[in-house]
Amino acid sequence: MPDGTSKRIDGRAISDEITKGISKQVQILKEAKITPGLAAILVGENPASKIYVKNKRKACQDTGIYFEEYNLPLDTTQGRLYSLIDKLNSKNDINGIIVQLPLPKHLDEKRITSRVACDKDVDGFCPKNAGLMLQGSYRLLPCTPAGIMELLRHENIKTEGKFSTVIGRSNIVGKPMAILLLHADSTVTICHRKTKNLKEICLKSDIIVCAAGKAGLITGDMVKKGAIVIDVGMNRDSNGKIVGDVLFDEVSKKASHITPVPGGVGPMTVAMLLKNVITATFLQNPHVPLKFNRY
Ligand code: NAD
Repeated sequence: MPDGTSKRIDGRAISDEITKGISKQVQILKEAKITPGLAAILVGENPASKIYVKNKRKACQDTGIYFEEYNLPLDTTQGRLYSLIDKLNSKNDINGIIVQLPLPKHLDEKRITSRVACDKDVDGFCPKNAGLMLQGSYRLLPCTPAGIMELLRHENIKTEGKFSTVIGRSNIVGKPMAILLLHADSTVTICHRKTKNLKEICLKSDIIVCAAGKAGLITGDMVKKGAIVIDVGMNRDSNGKIVGDVLFDEVSKKASHITPVPGGVGPMTVAMLLKNVITATFLQNPHVPLKFNRY
């Protein structure tokens, strides 16, 4: 790598490789007369959520996973969502259920996502799956952090003994990301909106994972030479273009590896969702031998 340029980690290419492996797993299951199935629930008309669900549908179609979509109106009640989730929990042809977030304000996200049966919780949000992850017994992991760990593994980036900083502390990205890095023997710092010395912490970091949802948060002067920078953020700039949290042009002059937005973490999240659907299908069909590395 010439001095002053970093390796751009190609999440699309890596996710394509993983997806090919998933298609093979779908075939193994189909030979055992099982078609893995995913159901997605979307409440309201959030345009970004619609795009995410559309991408998930396409990924399922491409790999042979059966897909069902439930579009509910904005004024859907908690009770109506519960009864749909209960119905899907007992539906034999559905092995994974996702409730697309964010939900409208009047709905209780934590309670609703916890209503999904833990064996079908392909987002890895339910208290049982989150608790097992905390203990290091991986089952169904949250897709974005799992995808980032796959990216690091694929690039042969060692996490052991490294000083890793995670920016963001959401239950979906920041917290599980920090736990996975900790279990991979990193020394982990979690930063958030109230962190006072973000630049100072970042400058010490060998690995930075930024999941704040703030365009331009990480600038070149915040990153030490040779650091690994993973950009989870997905923001729209003033022209409507999707950008990350990291100023790519500046930071790529310092980092040894960097993920672009789009084309970095995003495709890995979808690949890990498919992987979770397969894992969930095997969990629900213990008689079929699992020929798949879980995590
Ligand atoms: P969130 O809003 O729930 O959490 C954001 C976190 O960032 C919070 O913990 C907050 O304290 C922290 N934060 C905000 N501003 C900060 C600042 N200035 N300094 C330090 N910390 C700050 O969001 P989320 O669901 O965790 O998602 C984060 C971002 O990642 C969003 O842009 C989202 O769109 C994106 N995302 C991308 C993928 C993907 O597949 N690429 C998946 C999930 C989320």
